[in-house]
Amino acid sequence: MKLTVLYDNTALQPDPQPDWGFACAIELAESNVLFDTGTEAQILLGNMDKLGFAPRDFDLVAISHDHHDHTGGLAAVLAGNPDVTVVIPSRFSRDFKDRVAATGAKLAEIDDAGEIAPGLYTSGQMGDGIIEQAVVMDSADGLVVVTGCAHPGVVEMVTQAKAALDGDIALVMGGFHLMATPVAGVEDIISRLQRLGVQRAAPCHCTGDAAIEVFAERYGDDFIKIGVGWKSEFAARP
Ligand SMILES: [Zn+2]
Ligand SMILES: [Zn+2]
Repeated sequence: MKLTVLYDNTALQPDPQPDWGFACAIELAESNVLFDTGTEAQILLGNMDKLGFAPRDFDLVAISHDHHDHTGGLAAVLAGNPDVTVVIPSRFSRDFKDRVAATGAKLAEIDDAGEIAPGLYTSGQMGDGIIEQAVVMDSADGLVVVTGCAHPGVVEMVTQAKAALDGDIALVMGGFHLMATPVAGVEDIISRLQRLGVQRAAPCHCTGDAAIEVFAERYGDDFIKIGVGWKSEFAARP
């Protein structure tokens, strides 16, 4: 199983192109999943190309939440792959669903935590205002939770994933939405993640530079600096 960050505002090297937003490719034994689609279609497609992907390579597209920095490239991906299935929380707007259905793509609406592809799960939909799902890879080292913006709260999303899937959390990565959270609040969130047994943390996107620094200090060797172009391989659970 492999994760590749296709879209992020953090750059690890000059190429591929960084831009505000998030997208990540998840390669499983039997299928490929695109989680979120960034902001600008041209940047997403360009980064995909540089990182060895094309829209037709994906069997599923899972959308975390309906914000433009996660859905901006969706229409272009669907134009390049009309056979794909789009996995969304059932409480997404009628307008969003109509726009996807109009492209000919299939919609799979999720409510609770469950498997969306062999080896990949949704946390289930969460949140009151902004409805959001995280995706969770079941690796040999434990669960790998990938968040879009974590608007319902990264601790809440990890708690729900851990309870539903009943496993240790090897890694939490993605946007944790802590840009406006004071350092003491970030410290508290890290303590709660550590109490949940989160072994490694890879915050990016809307986590905010100051909060990412606190994660780096607190997680030490178990902090992973990620950004667009970052890749990692995980052994599948035997
Ligand atoms: Zn975002
Ligand atoms: Zn958002």
